[in-house]
Amino acid sequence: MAARVALLSSRPGATLVPGLIDAHTHLIGQGTHFGYETLGVSTPMETLWGARNAKVTLEAGFTTVRNVGAGGYSDVALRDAINQGLVPGPRMLVSGPPLGITGGHCDDNLLPFERHAASEGAADGIDGVQHKTREVIKYGADVVKICATGGVLSKGDDPQASQYTLEEMKAIVADAHRLGRKVAAHAHGAQGILWATEAGVDSIEHGSYIDDAAIVAMKQHGTYLVPTMYLQTWMLENAQSIGLPAMYAGKMRQVTEVARKNISHAFASGVKVAFGTDAAVYPHGLNAHEFNVYVQMGMTPIQSIQTATVNAADLLGWSDRIGTLDLGKFADIVAVSGDPTKDVTTLEHPVFVMKGGVVYRNETKQ
Ligand SMILES: [Zn+2]
Repeated sequence: MAARVALLSSRPGATLVPGLIDAHTHLIGQGTHFGYETLGVSTPMETLWGARNAKVTLEAGFTTVRNVGAGGYSDVALRDAINQGLVPGPRMLVSGPPLGITGGHCDDNLLPFERHAASEGAADGIDGVQHKTREVIKYGADVVKICATGGVLSKGDDPQASQYTLEEMKAIVADAHRLGRKVAAHAHGAQGILWATEAGVDSIEHGSYIDDAAIVAMKQHGTYLVPTMYLQTWMLENAQSIGLPAMYAGKMRQVTEVARKNISHAFASGVKVAFGTDAAVYPHGLNAHEFNVYVQMGMTPIQSIQTATVNAADLLGWSDRIGTLDLGKFADIVAVSGDPTKDVTTLEHPVFVMKGGVVYRNETKQ
């Protein structure tokens, strides 16, 4: 509270908001590197990049993130290093390697058969997914990430095709929930969104082809949608200059053509929404550009801000500690110049960031 008073007196016209929450990031890794380029980067190097990305993300006003997918449990190490004060960064909930079918979006499909490459999260069948769910929890996952459908930035699969079966996802959710972990499902195609929802996952990530049947089911189950929309805007502008491989660029175009309309319809239909960015696909630190896309898609500015505060806190199961400025919660506070309830783009340039009472950015001193 002392910080609040001091800040207000030193910077009239600033607005305080709760520390922001991004429910879909990938802090680990070099970022904006795709396809075969990624094969030459070691896990230790990716982890060092993660430390750099964590600092950038925190300074952008994001005091909590959910990291949904990383190799080698590097995300567990980064989370623990941040908690131990070794490196600056947001509070992290991490998944470890994402679970997915053999050959699916969450497997490694770049190398030919004789290389025998498979991702750490590849798991098939009821027994296989049960074992993998228990394994990621054993090694430190706070949340279980699964791939329910194909994806864009993966070789040889179709974003609209379902990958895990309803039965496999039910088995994952049963184990994860029994062990106190939520489940986040990457899902583009409508059938996969519906099955993941029926299986009881806690959030649908991306949701590009969401249809009315999926919307009805998500509202019934209270499932959150975590759209990742700004990445599409950024990709349209930058796919060529970053050299996005052709095997991904075509899928990116197809998904981008329909996602905004489908997800705007989901917003208007009253699906619960939590803020997510997929930062890593575009440069870390631009996370807050997501707010204005939600406004362009029909949310009011305050609804857009709530996706990254109260809503995301609820999805993470951390409503008792983050998401609002309240006594008894962490002192995670961001200040922006002007009024974000009128103009959410003010959130793109925070002038003050405090996490747990420690100041990480302060441009309020004149
Ligand atoms: Zn992602």
